[in-house]
Amino acid sequence: MMTDLELANPIPAFQSVVDVLVPVALDRAYSYAVPEGMPLAPGDVVLVPLGKRETAGVVWTMRAGSGGNLKPVLGRIDVPPFNEKLRSFLDWIAWYTLAPRGLAMRLALRVPEGADTARMLEPPRIGVRIIGKAPQRMTAARSRVLASLAEGKTLLKRDLAHEAGVSQSVIDGLLDEGTLEAVALPPIPVALPPNADYVKASLSEGQEAVATALRATVREAAFSVSLVEGVTGSGKTEVYFEAVAEALRAGRQALILMPEIALTAQFLERFEARFGVKPAEWHSGITGRKRARIHAGTADGTVRVVAGARSALFMPFQDLALIVIDEEHETAYKQDDGVIYHARDMAVVRGRFENAAVVLASATPSIESKVNAERGRYRHLKLPERFGGRTMPDIHTIDLRRNPAERGRWISPPLIGAVNQTLEAGEQALLFLNRRGYAPLTVCHHCGHRFQCPNCSTWLVDHRFRRALVCHHCGHVERRPDVCPACDKADTLAACGPGVERLAEEVAEVFPDKRAIVLSSDFPGGTEHIRTQLQAIAAGEVDIVIGTQLVAKGHNFPGLTLVGVIDADVGLANGDPRAAERTFQLMQQVTGRAGRGDRPGRALIQTTQPDHPVLRAIVSGDVARFYAEEIAVREEAGLPPFGKLAALIISSPDKLEAENYARALARVAQAPQNVIVLGPAEAPLALVRGRFRFRLLVRAGRAIDLQAYLRDWLARAPKHPAKLRVAVDVDPQSFM
Ligand code: ADP
Ligand code: ZN
Repeated sequence: MMTDLELANPIPAFQSVVDVLVPVALDRAYSYAVPEGMPLAPGDVVLVPLGKRETAGVVWTMRAGSGGNLKPVLGRIDVPPFNEKLRSFLDWIAWYTLAPRGLAMRLALRVPEGADTARMLEPPRIGVRIIGKAPQRMTAARSRVLASLAEGKTLLKRDLAHEAGVSQSVIDGLLDEGTLEAVALPPIPVALPPNADYVKASLSEGQEAVATALRATVREAAFSVSLVEGVTGSGKTEVYFEAVAEALRAGRQALILMPEIALTAQFLERFEARFGVKPAEWHSGITGRKRARIHAGTADGTVRVVAGARSALFMPFQDLALIVIDEEHETAYKQDDGVIYHARDMAVVRGRFENAAVVLASATPSIESKVNAERGRYRHLKLPERFGGRTMPDIHTIDLRRNPAERGRWISPPLIGAVNQTLEAGEQALLFLNRRGYAPLTVCHHCGHRFQCPNCSTWLVDHRFRRALVCHHCGHVERRPDVCPACDKADTLAACGPGVERLAEEVAEVFPDKRAIVLSSDFPGGTEHIRTQLQAIAAGEVDIVIGTQLVAKGHNFPGLTLVGVIDADVGLANGDPRAAERTFQLMQQVTGRAGRGDRPGRALIQTTQPDHPVLRAIVSGDVARFYAEEIAVREEAGLPPFGKLAALIISSPDKLEAENYARALARVAQAPQNVIVLGPAEAPLALVRGRFRFRLLVRAGRAIDLQAYLRDWLARAPKHPAKLRVAVDVDPQSFM
């Protein structure tokens, strides 16, 4: 017998087999039978048996069939389903990156531990109020309770006890006597809706033009990509907020991706100043129930704006109108293990599936985005000037060959002079060195022994604050000994080269009595500590800031007028095809911290290569020329975006095995026209976490279907032991 209700069910009764993707390294979905009376739809998150255990999975497709001898689905898990757009997006990622679909799905899977859905529920909020009946007996405490609830007020029991200065038992007594009653209060929303018109932005003419274009792209409600290229301090944030406002006006959702969300307290405050409330944050620091509620809120549409790290890209948005990728050139967007993907590129793809407007913002766009904009594939919107008539910093190099620092020191006399001038004027200086720790290398004077990581082919970095030698690749830590382990001599170990900690020591000697602060991501205290420090700098409580790239990005320090780059040669030295682009971006970002307030800024860059094209471009401000030259080089070499690249990284604890397998892989490669396979070569980082690494590089023309080529190749690959791994990196950003 079928009732009307059952007929209205979208799933016909005969469709009783589901194909479920499980979060393991498998490309194919497993089939399960649907028990009678369990209404399931594609996208539902379910609990299924997998071998001897149970796992959460996602219904990818449904088919007709009796289910026969298939194992049954155990139950539906009450978390937001994966809608069709999200499923298509994840399928696409798996196709593009060659990751197994199960792992791509796992990027978006969020189930409470042990599928214990009760953990997700908010504890009920119980309020109390007066119902009128007079208490049998009046006391001072009781009368204070009644006074607190005057005029029909409802308060949480805890708050009432606090306000009236009574214990909860006093309130319980009044509840028992029927003087008060308990009522359920609605849960506090996890994120309040931002108000598009909370503060009317007053934009400059140039900003308004860009904002108008962005509002229009959001109103179109169709896929589009716009590159907002604006110099540091031009107000890119201010301007893309207008696109967010337009999404809110349309009653839709917006996602803002940021490279270092955990550190951007300033950003959250600016958002609040513009929209009245903070956006929902999404990053690894958001945990537990809050995480579950924000996740659910994006699916039911109550969470309207998410500001998040790259993992926010996989949230189950109900109606996404806009994706902003702030600092789109940042390397932090590249995920380097598991599913290897670039969050900027995947954001553009998600935008396509969601029919959303995508906005890329940067002062120093990636070559890829720049080319796309210049060739008209992306809308190109420019903010060529700093906001409020502020000028760009005045930039010069200091040639270390002619102006060397004193022996064993790193700050050259001209830079010392400039810092003194700045401090005398009551302004702040930033000394930038992109090296964490005290010294990048420790050597024995006597025998020449160098401290190397036992698991990686890297030197151990001396961290004095932590009193340890640390590997920056695998985290290996050892005590710095007093005696050389190779020659047994005491007091022979010397630090080679500078890190920020060593620079801080020098600053204390050269600028005594000045308030200096070191900012580095590895200091104890974590994100909260760094947030406090950034606020102290912005508030002018610090004279000299010493920092790694952590300070280079996005921050606004109004009193900072001098930026000194300690060693610009660091990034230029290696053979990475992206070295020039990266150094250019980093130098632009860090020098762009100077002069963002009322007073003009300047930057001094210490280098032994003042004639290097990257530094010439930075000093002259001729950004257009740098891009033109870099793009020409890429085009000539057939490098992205003019050609395609993929890397295969073969790693194993057994060096010979890794090398032999890499050779075997290379042998079964085919080389059709416009495809070149290079290698295998030992990776520059030949040993990481105890695994020996070899690399193969595929270079292909734009017209080649690189994914098909790679799949075909890997299908012919010989079998290998489980301890050997082959990682595929499509569009590699790092060649280490
Ligand atoms: P960018 O991201 O391009 O470096 P920001 O958006 O951080 O620039 O803006 C730089 C500074 O200028 C910030 O302090 C910001 O508040 C201010 N600013 C930019 N545009 C405006 C505006 N229209 N009105 C008021 N302040 C602005
Ligand atoms: Zn290591």
